[in-house]
Amino acid sequence: MIRPGRYLQLRRRAAGLSVLATASALVGLPSALRRASVREINRMADRLHAAEADIAPLTEPQIGLLANVIPLQPVVYFGLCTARAMGFGWPRRICTECGCTDTMACLDAHGPCAWSCNTADLCTACENKQLDALLASVATIARPGAQVAL
Ligand SMILES: [Zn+2]
Ligand SMILES: [Zn+2]
Repeated sequence: MIRPGRYLQLRRRAAGLSVLATASALVGLPSALRRASVREINRMADRLHAAEADIAPLTEPQIGLLANVIPLQPVVYFGLCTARAMGFGWPRRICTECGCTDTMACLDAHGPCAWSCNTADLCTACENKQLDALLASVATIARPGAQVAL
């Protein structure tokens, strides 16, 4: 089962954001009247690291704020927290690569993602990305004149 912190990490990475970039966006949220200090951003980054490591889970207002920066589902995060605390599995599917769910699908060139028929709990958007990466590496090896090391 995916840990709550891992869910946060997957959603952050799917959004293409580093912890520092997320912290910077979060600190800037309440008002743009003044620039956030490096110290404030670093403190926020520490807080995010602690949440992703499940050392200090986020509260409801905190996850609400984070949802403004990263597309995530608070109900999934708190469901995972509750399931973990009570020692049972989370009954809904979550993509192990990007953290998408039935109610928050990825959108790529092929449209909204579905569940892969080949790998459990992998969405088709992530499966397509893995296939593209594989094909790209095969194309490199198959290039005429390229040395193939086996
Ligand atoms: Zn996925
Ligand atoms: Zn997906």
